[in-house]
Amino acid sequence: MAQAHMFNYQALPMRVVMGPGSLARLGGEIDQAAMERVLVLCSPEQQELGERVADLLGERAAGVHPHARTHVPLESAEAARDQAKRLGADGCVAVGGGSAIGLGKAVALEYGLRIVAVPTTYAGSEMTSVWGLTENGRKRTGRDPRALPVSVVYDPELTVGLSAAVSATSGMNALAHAVESLYAPDTSPIVRLMAEEGVRALAAALPEVVSDGFDLRARGVAQYGAWLCGACLGATSMGLHHKLCHVLGGTLDLPHAPTHTVVLPHALAYNQPAVPEAVTALSRALGGTADPARALWELGRTLGTPRSLAELGMPEEAIHEIVGLTLADTYPNPRTVTAENLTHLLRRAWAGEPPAVLPAAEKESPR
Ligand code: NAD
Repeated sequence: MAQAHMFNYQALPMRVVMGPGSLARLGGEIDQAAMERVLVLCSPEQQELGERVADLLGERAAGVHPHARTHVPLESAEAARDQAKRLGADGCVAVGGGSAIGLGKAVALEYGLRIVAVPTTYAGSEMTSVWGLTENGRKRTGRDPRALPVSVVYDPELTVGLSAAVSATSGMNALAHAVESLYAPDTSPIVRLMAEEGVRALAAALPEVVSDGFDLRARGVAQYGAWLCGACLGATSMGLHHKLCHVLGGTLDLPHAPTHTVVLPHALAYNQPAVPEAVTALSRALGGTADPARALWELGRTLGTPRSLAELGMPEEAIHEIVGLTLADTYPNPRTVTAENLTHLLRRAWAGEPPAVLPAAEKESPR
C-alpha cells in the first residue's frame, strides 16, 4: 500500500511560456500582466538581443538598459530604476542570464516595478523569489515574493548563442538545484518529481547541446530541465553545496556556474550516505548508476567542464578560510559537517580528484 505523505508546498504565482519561437508571445505576456511600457534590462554583452526584444515590443518598449552586472551592485539597480522613471516605464523585461534577471529582481523588490523574465542560460533564477544586492562589497540575499517575475518566457532559440563551455557549466549549476532539493528539509513529492525529471532531461540533453549548440531540440530539452531544476530551487532550502559555492564565490570571486560544476559531485558524494531516497531518484535519472556523485563527475568530463577549484583560480591556502566561513553559517544539510570532512572535501575539489565518500568524523556536531 502507498505511504501517507506529510509535507508543506507553496506554489509560486507565475506564468511560464515555453517552446521554440516563444519570444513572439512576449507582448501578450506584457499585456496579460497589465503593463504598458517596459524597460528591457540586459548585460552589455547581450545588448543586441535587448534591442531585438525592444524592436519586437514596438510601442510597449520604453527603452533598453544594457548595464546588468554580476552580483547586482546597488548602484546598478538604482541606475535601472532611474532610467525606468525617466522613460515612464511601468515594468521591466529582464533578458539574459542570472545577472540580468537578478537586476530585474532588485528593481522589482526595491522599487515596485514588476518583471517579465526571458532567460537565456540555465541558472534558474527566474523561478525563485531569491534576490541579491551588493553594497560596499557585501552581497545581501533574501527571499521576497515581490522579486518573483510575473511571467517567464523560455525560448530555446535564444540559447543557441550560449557557448558550449557556458552551456555545460550553466547546466551543471541547474543540476545542483535539483540535487539539493531532493534532500532539502522542505522537499515534497512534487519537488522530488520535478527534480528527478529535471536531472533526467538535463543530463540527457547537455552532451547533445555541447556537441551541437544549434540543435534546437536538445536546447529545448535542456531548457525544460533547467526550468524544472529552477522550480526546485524556488521551492526548497539549499544545503552544503549551495552554501559552499556562495562562500567560494563571495570570498574569492570565483565564477558562479563553473564553481557549482566543480563542487557538485564532491558535495553530493559527502551527503550520499545520509540520503538513500535521493540517491535512488538520482540513480534512476542518471541511467541506473549506483553512484550519482561519480556519474555527475563523469558527466562533467564528457562536457569538458573545469575539473578543479585550482583551475578556477582558488589558491590552496584559502581552503582553511573557506572551511571556517562555511562552518560559521547555518544552513540545512542532511549530514553533519565538520572542519575535518570539509577540508578533505575541498582538498579533493581543489585538486580535481574524483569525489569520495568521506567517513563520519568522530565528533560530529549537528547542523
Ligand atoms: P550571467 O547572467 O552572468 O551570464 C554569463 C554571461 O553569459 C554574460 O556575459 C551574459 O551576457 C552571457 N549570456 C547569457 N546568455 C547568453 C546567450 N544565450 N548567448 C550568449 N551569451 C549569453 O550568468 P548566470 O550563470 O546565468 O547567472 C549567474 C548569476 O545569477 C550569479 O550572480 C548568481 O548568484 C545568480 N543566480 C541567482 C539565482 C537566484 O535564485 N537568485 C539562481 C541562480 C543564479
